[in-house]
Amino acid sequence: MNYFSTRGAGPVNLDEALRSGIADDGGLFLPEQLPAFSINDFDSAESILDVASILLQPFFEDSALCGELHQIVAETFSFPIPTTALDAAGKDVSLLELYHGPTAAFKDVGAGFLAACLSRLEGDVNSPVTILVATSGDTGGAVAAAFDRRPGMRVAVLYPDGRVSERQEQQLCCWSENVLSLKVSGAFDDCQAMVKAALADDELAEKHRFSSANSINIGRLLPQSIYYADASLQHFRRTGNKPGFIIPTGNLGNGFACLMAREMGLPIGPVILATNSNRTIADFFETLEWLPRASLQTLASAMDVGDPSNMERLRKLLGEAEVLRERIGVATVNDEEIRSAIREDFEEFGIATCPHTATATYTWRQLDPDLVDSHDWILVATAHPAKFETIVEPLIGSTIALPPELEAILSRPARAVSIEANLASLAHALSDVG
Ligand SMILES: *Cc1c(COP(=O)(O)O)cnc(C)c1O
Repeated sequence: MNYFSTRGAGPVNLDEALRSGIADDGGLFLPEQLPAFSINDFDSAESILDVASILLQPFFEDSALCGELHQIVAETFSFPIPTTALDAAGKDVSLLELYHGPTAAFKDVGAGFLAACLSRLEGDVNSPVTILVATSGDTGGAVAAAFDRRPGMRVAVLYPDGRVSERQEQQLCCWSENVLSLKVSGAFDDCQAMVKAALADDELAEKHRFSSANSINIGRLLPQSIYYADASLQHFRRTGNKPGFIIPTGNLGNGFACLMAREMGLPIGPVILATNSNRTIADFFETLEWLPRASLQTLASAMDVGDPSNMERLRKLLGEAEVLRERIGVATVNDEEIRSAIREDFEEFGIATCPHTATATYTWRQLDPDLVDSHDWILVATAHPAKFETIVEPLIGSTIALPPELEAILSRPARAVSIEANLASLAHALSDVG
């Protein structure tokens, strides 16, 4: 399969798209054409691993990784992704639990898959690749966990000192020798600027064989389609209905993966993107004008995105706002509504939800009654509530038990190197260990 940039460059094969992350012309990679499936193509699939192998096969044609696809998939989906029914007074609604991975959030899936692919393509114990990642919290943990102990691969995580929560910091700093945790005396934007500067520095880039694992890599999107495929197939087999999905949305990677699965023929009904107060997508559908802006801080912090980069992919794949708004729903949920949804989820369903997941449960409760009755709904739970305990626990008046993954992380020793917010400090830290 060939891959092209949303801005025209290409073609490249999958391996090249995985290695480079972003296209030379600044665009994002998309497959030349999405494969088409019928539901029967998955008749033999008994597990999410089988679904993944069938769905991903065409994307891996003429990739050096083709023969290892099964193993890559097994490494990625090494934890359960259940859909659990919610007790909602006779309505068919359930929760897709994407938070059973090593850092208890859905980004573990994309990061794990990318790590499994890149370590096979690039790993060299004599000359390790260094993955640079700037993080404001969650992404860095998922990437570090995914590359932890992978031979020939090293990760440098840059995070802003004093601006991530205690539990988040632990998730960035508790890994093995091959993960370098860098506490930067600056803001997230400084961390991002340092990564950009390092990638653009030819001498450093050659010395450390830099690569990035940013959220726009096609290797993070492809595996995310799998859980939508698996959940929808299971639901369809059981009920004969195509479930609708409500997806907490920030940079639009997770939502795009669901829409891609629907385009490929999976039994998926309506798709609704739930955002926080960052209204860029909602305003686009309303005014037909794409007006990216600075992000607003909200309780659902991993969704604080004012310029969702995957919109460029969505416009290329489906069309402009007139088309998009006919085929996709969007809802915005403010902080007060997030709080009320967390309380109601606890009272009505007896579960704790994280602030991101709460944008989906809130949106479901606000749906037009006809839409609730005419479809079964799957609400996407993107992180475990114990990751956001300082927000959730006071609202529900009860403590949230730590899942085993987080407990393991919190009990490990942590270490970080403090550096100044400039390229020279970063270069020095990388050489000290390298
Ligand atoms: C990243 C993230 C999101 C947003 O996902 P996108 O793919 O950026 O739309 C939602 N919830 C959590 C917990 C996240 O970490």
